[in-house]
Amino acid sequence: MPSYVVLLGPPGAGKGTQAELISEKLNLAHISSGDIFRENLKNQTELGKQAQGYMNRGELVPDDLTIEMIKDRLQRPDCKEGALLDGFPRTPAQAEALGKMLAEWNGKVECVPYISVPPKELVGRLSGRWTCKEQGHVYHETFNPPKVAGKCDIDGSELYQRDDDKAETVERRIKVYLEQTTPLIDYYRKQGVLAEVDGTLPIEQVTTLLLKAIEKG
Ligand code: ADP
Ligand code: ADP
Repeated sequence: MPSYVVLLGPPGAGKGTQAELISEKLNLAHISSGDIFRENLKNQTELGKQAQGYMNRGELVPDDLTIEMIKDRLQRPDCKEGALLDGFPRTPAQAEALGKMLAEWNGKVECVPYISVPPKELVGRLSGRWTCKEQGHVYHETFNPPKVAGKCDIDGSELYQRDDDKAETVERRIKVYLEQTTPLIDYYRKQGVLAEVDGTLPIEQVTTLLLKAIEKG
């Protein structure tokens, strides 16, 4: 039976950072909805063109487009054993749709680690974030700097600052998260799969807590 883990948390909580560190250990494909959208944007696919305006404004891409994109991605061979979802679901409708599609495949959401970080810490995290052009690996100029400034430690590609990590867009994204995504905390708590992890701790400590929470779940 495939196994699915959903990382929940505000923009800047450390979902991408942690997913990169634990997906191999869990033997699960790391599926980041934001990375998939950015790849489509770069290649100017039809989906990328449809998503562009929403992403630039820091709003959510409509549910129907997002759900279809994830459903398609989760059916690829690398997700045969399941997936570690980063950035999806982000609305109650997406969570419902995920539950339905997994049930069709005899799977379910087994554990939802919620990486909690108070909003006041998020702006500093996002404005200091540097992302790798090739594969989306993330760094922070103060909290997790690359070995060589401007270059990814893992694949050597150039690092850039995302357009939507600008202060105004960050404020909007946090607001959107509080309004549209926080209901998922209760939704998964009621299902008995939520595990809150303190995301203000150093990266390695968060990793340890996450792995413990997932083992238990
Ligand atoms: P998300 O995917 O949830 O938006 P990221 O993993 O991209 O978050 O992390 C946001 C920024 O915060 C990045 O610059 C990252 O290096 C940094 N970061 C991640 N985890 C921590 C942590 N535990 N403490 C300090 N900074 C962190
Ligand atoms: P963050 O690092 O802030 O968590 P992401 O990289 O996950 O951001 O997402 C970047 C943008 O991509 C979002 O602001 C949104 O426009 C779009 N996006 C990503 N995932 C979703 C989703 N599940 N539903 C709708 N839009 C999404």
